[in-house]
Amino acid sequence: MHTKTLPDLVRGLRSREFSSLELTQSFLNRIRQHRHLNAYITVTEEDALLNAKAADVRLAEGKAELLTGIPIAHKDIFCTLDVKTTCGSKMLDNFTAPYNATVVEKFNQAGAVMLGKLNMDEFAMGSSNETSYYGAVKNPWNTQAVPGGSSGGSAAAVAARLAACATGTDTGGSIRQPAALCGITGLKPTYGRVSRYGMIAYASSLDQGGPMAHSAEDAAILLQTMAGFDEKDSTSVNCPVPDYSAGLNKSIAGLKIGLPKEFFSDGLNSHIAATLEAAINEYRKLGAEIKEISMPNLKLAIPAYYVIAPAECSANLSRFDGVRFGYRCENPADLTDLYTRTRGEGFGKEVKRRILMGTYALSAGYYEAYYIKAQKIRRLISDDFKNALSEVDVIMGPVTPATAFGIGEKMGDPIEMYLSDIYTIAINLAGVPALSIPAGFIAEMPVGLQIIGNYFAEDMLLNIAHQYQQVTDWHQQTPKGFE
Ligand code: GLN
Repeated sequence: MHTKTLPDLVRGLRSREFSSLELTQSFLNRIRQHRHLNAYITVTEEDALLNAKAADVRLAEGKAELLTGIPIAHKDIFCTLDVKTTCGSKMLDNFTAPYNATVVEKFNQAGAVMLGKLNMDEFAMGSSNETSYYGAVKNPWNTQAVPGGSSGGSAAAVAARLAACATGTDTGGSIRQPAALCGITGLKPTYGRVSRYGMIAYASSLDQGGPMAHSAEDAAILLQTMAGFDEKDSTSVNCPVPDYSAGLNKSIAGLKIGLPKEFFSDGLNSHIAATLEAAINEYRKLGAEIKEISMPNLKLAIPAYYVIAPAECSANLSRFDGVRFGYRCENPADLTDLYTRTRGEGFGKEVKRRILMGTYALSAGYYEAYYIKAQKIRRLISDDFKNALSEVDVIMGPVTPATAFGIGEKMGDPIEMYLSDIYTIAINLAGVPALSIPAGFIAEMPVGLQIIGNYFAEDMLLNIAHQYQQVTDWHQQTPKGFE
């Protein structure tokens, strides 16, 4: 059952081939069996079984919604009513939200059964899932390797089939990079497409929730559920949500694909380059036209991001002060002691580094030199995308500079770690949508292909990915030991 696609699971549930209780039970068993991957922070076994039984009643009555009875797991950044939400941090180890994030609410409304909450880098800051207070997650393709981050638990859970599908969030690559490193399909929607209400904020102008699944077909169903205007999120965009599944069978003959020469320059690993070349060749066979383009400001994305994201995080994380919620240090001597010890003890090293960088960049005297400068670069990068996407329909490129690296390998070198997102970060700065699909293997480790589109072109991206997945089977591979 655990290897079926979402449409097959939906059909199987409706035709009573198996029940939601059986399906849920089988995923819960797998979660227990593969506990060593550390993909979950919380498993909500009892509620999952109750909700599965309730779903079976609705299915029997013919009252099923789009995802009734389908087991899903959420990144632990999404607030869940009555279920602990930690954001991967000691700061929130004891925190239970009094409400559901809009994304969680929408999945509940659609009938999905939540299996639990997935491990992640602390406050979504990281590229390897190693900054989590709950420990590293292992990559199911090689348990000595990282799954990527920050949505590492989501990617590992989907790849190892410990959930039928999952949610993730992406501020600089956190859906696409772990999707690539774990061989699954992950989509970062246009900024504003999916509500951020109840999604714990890292860098509010960049954060976006999205689906993590086996295929574009599955991701289309998930995005259908997640997307849409939310009056509780002032940055959510009020524009119609197309029928993503219905848009999946369009021919891509004549599609113009742009390959930025900056993505394919000398810095790109030759094995990754060869894998992408083969994938692009498949698109050629499907009738696409390939064109080299130039996006000269892409190289400025990492430095600009590491001013803007920390600046926003330093403001967002100021709420964790030991007064209102979350961790509080023991016996504070006075208010200053309460603040400093709570934050000193509650946050991990990487989060503190970001808060320091961000506070510095926003301080009087440096604001113009760093923050304003970074905002100007952000505009230049957006203009690069605008210009490129007026010449071509989509842009393709790598997701990661290499396949999954070893656990512990980059933790001592933050700059090396930051460079893991060199191909994904510019997309968040521009706010455009992009997805990562499995495109092959190097030494038995998965490689992703990135497809970037214009604002609100998620339907087009999903169709382009789906066409490739009709003629390749990379997305159907399962890591050894997880069949
Ligand atoms: N790795 C990047 C960072 O650490 C991106 C993380 C993300 O997208 N949440 O900021």
